[in-house]
Amino acid sequence: DLRKQSVNNYRFFQPSMDAQVQRRLALAQDLRDAIADNQLHVHYQPICVVKTGKICGVEALLRWAHPVRGMLSPAEFIPLAEQTGLIVAIGNWVLETACAAACRLPEDIELSVNISPKQFQQIDMPAVVARVLARTGLPPHRLCLEVTESLLIHDTERMLACLADLRRQGVRVSLDDFGTGYSGLSYLRRFFFDKIKIDRAFIRDVENVADVQALTSTIVALGHRLGLQVVAEGIETEAQRHIIETFGCDFAQGYLFSRAVPEEVLLSMPEFLPVKMDVAFELEARPV
Ligand code: C2E
Ligand code: MG
Ligand code: MG
Ligand code: MG
Repeated sequence: DLRKQSVNNYRFFQPSMDAQVQRRLALAQDLRDAIADNQLHVHYQPICVVKTGKICGVEALLRWAHPVRGMLSPAEFIPLAEQTGLIVAIGNWVLETACAAACRLPEDIELSVNISPKQFQQIDMPAVVARVLARTGLPPHRLCLEVTESLLIHDTERMLACLADLRRQGVRVSLDDFGTGYSGLSYLRRFFFDKIKIDRAFIRDVENVADVQALTSTIVALGHRLGLQVVAEGIETEAQRHIIETFGCDFAQGYLFSRAVPEEVLLSMPEFLPVKMDVAFELEARPV
């Protein structure tokens, strides 16, 4: 009968389910220790002006150097951090670490930080951000918070009020992974957002699939009509960069320019090296 069947199924699946649950529990426990053990690191991926390739910003991306499993991608542990609520402590740590690092970059470089919906559930999230800015000394206009449409699923009015509040502080807000969610277009207004980031899924096919080309160029035009800046994610080839340039896309991020790198590596990029004194002197001293 049915009951017997489900009991049998249960028995049949139990070992593998157990293993999966065990692995997740172990990873959750490890994640709890990871912050205290300094296993979490923030890497930075340049965001460039499409036309010139000049770096105008960086996105902070979390990395976990697990003592046994090696370098783990956020795709593996961010969902776990969200389910366990650890994302609030981790996310706030990323925000503070990245804001402090941004102060060591040139003043015209903007910092983008991914913020989980769970972080927005903190009491007075805009005040949490304001305190981090005050502590680190980063001017609000240099910080851009990246949120996804999933932020707007629950408690929409409160979340939108939060975004408006942050923007009144001078902080920028960008809608990440645009085109993959299903919240509709009604929130896509300059009152709440400064930028949209076109998801990598579009860029992957933008050269070869006519419909994706039409969608991508339309998203750029839509963003511009609404007074928003448009960023393309996952630009890996010059051909992809060129095609989004013809669409008028403002900014690009992807392996063509750079992967996410540790702060030391970022600071050693030619654009961020301080002008050498002897070179500056030579230029000045040399007769014209
Ligand atoms: P995201 O915010 O959309 O970040 C962009 C992701 O695309 C990053 O993956 C980046 O390394 C990757 N990427 C950039 N350019 C290219 C490219 O040219 N080709 C390919 N194949 N990939 C590219 P990453 O670092 O693995 O992060 C994955 C996601 O994890 C992020 O997607 C974001 O949603 C989440 N995440 C990362 N750090 C944090 C964090 O501090 N807090 C929160 N809440 N989420 C984070
Ligand atoms: Mg992002
Ligand atoms: Mg994205
Ligand atoms: Mg993405």
